[in-house]
Amino acid sequence: MKTHMTTQLQDFINNTLVIDTHEHLRTEHQWVEQGPLDVLQDLFANYTKADLISGGASPKAARRLDDGHDPDIKNRWNGIAQAWENIRHTGYGQSVQVLAQNVYGIEEITPDALHAAQPVLESLRCNGQRLHLLHDVAKIDHVQIDDKMRTCHPDESGPDFFLSDISWVGFVSKGVDWDELEGETGICVKDLRSLRSAMEQVFARHAQRAIAVKTQHAYNRTLRWRPVCDEDADRALNEVLTNPGNVDQNGRLCLGDWCLAQAAQLAGEYHLPLKIHTGYYAGNNSMITDRIRAGHLCPLLIEYPNTRFVLMHIAYPYTEELVAMTKHFPNAWADLCWAWSVNPAASGQFVRHMIHAAPANKLSAFGGDTHWPTSAYAYCLQMRHHLARTLQAEIDDRQLTESQAIAYAQRIMFDNQVNCFEIDKTKAENINEVEQDS
Ligand SMILES: [Zn+2]
Repeated sequence: MKTHMTTQLQDFINNTLVIDTHEHLRTEHQWVEQGPLDVLQDLFANYTKADLISGGASPKAARRLDDGHDPDIKNRWNGIAQAWENIRHTGYGQSVQVLAQNVYGIEEITPDALHAAQPVLESLRCNGQRLHLLHDVAKIDHVQIDDKMRTCHPDESGPDFFLSDISWVGFVSKGVDWDELEGETGICVKDLRSLRSAMEQVFARHAQRAIAVKTQHAYNRTLRWRPVCDEDADRALNEVLTNPGNVDQNGRLCLGDWCLAQAAQLAGEYHLPLKIHTGYYAGNNSMITDRIRAGHLCPLLIEYPNTRFVLMHIAYPYTEELVAMTKHFPNAWADLCWAWSVNPAASGQFVRHMIHAAPANKLSAFGGDTHWPTSAYAYCLQMRHHLARTLQAEIDDRQLTESQAIAYAQRIMFDNQVNCFEIDKTKAENINEVEQDS
């Protein structure tokens, strides 16, 4: 028996298949063998510790909360209980409660409730449960995973479900292990020409299995991009190769900008969207807000009109700038991945601004940005809840009819991703390869 009425819009959003454009999901093996040891660890194995620390918890208490080897659940919880009251209404705090309720049947988190739910975690950490939870329970069509590697191989636990990005962040900002790159490509990088050949090899060997190219260099440098000539890039690379400890900020930015341009070029040639982290930082004590504006990338979008740029996390807090970019540039898409948990109210406003400013084909509704399937499921439920409220507000304001709101939801949850990414082709490549290997 239903205890409350749901609208057609809510029904649709709760039940329709969604594409998850961004996770950092660990492998099946890692989930089963090295996954969270207890429910408390699983509940907070996402971004929420950062809010707890900003809200007054000591870093030591936050670390202890996360230590599944420590059996003293009561004290681990008590160490952050006060900070929890400060953050329980944030998007991160809400995601923990959604996870507790929907995966573990916990209404109010207490040490006793955490103990009682332990068998549920143990039943989930079995082979096949990761796929079952995400596909059958969360109603996700497939997930796109950044495992921080340049190489992409089929995931045998779900070859047409777990698709992966080519990671480019090492080239743009984090630095490259040159021996590792040589192992991947057969090319020893000595100069700019051989670096370009190595990059071409990464695409030649992995692009057909990859769903996109991804970089999160905003964590290490400004997003501001400038065109760089080969001579300047060659000089910077030479410094990096011969005297890496001595490369100044300008040299790093110069080489990084050149490497990002190569990704834009190659991604365009191989029909892979280029995903770029814009906006808010995970963690604490590192964000420089001026670095993270999506608008810093405008010169890159102008330079590579045939490449699709997916600008992630709605560039929060520079959201309005991103609305303007998707309105202005045919090659700019906005992605709400992670944003519903960072700030659900801003995400709802972002959707409403997009509806009335940008073409309806330029927005993706969901990515959890998590490591474990339980968190990805909770983040997906959180998105469905807030998206339904957001579109209901449009109906209540008489801006959309209910059927128009449903059609918009269908676009941003599924159809837009189908148009932006070559999903069927990528799924087929991964399935074929698994079948050939077996
Ligand atoms: Zn991420």
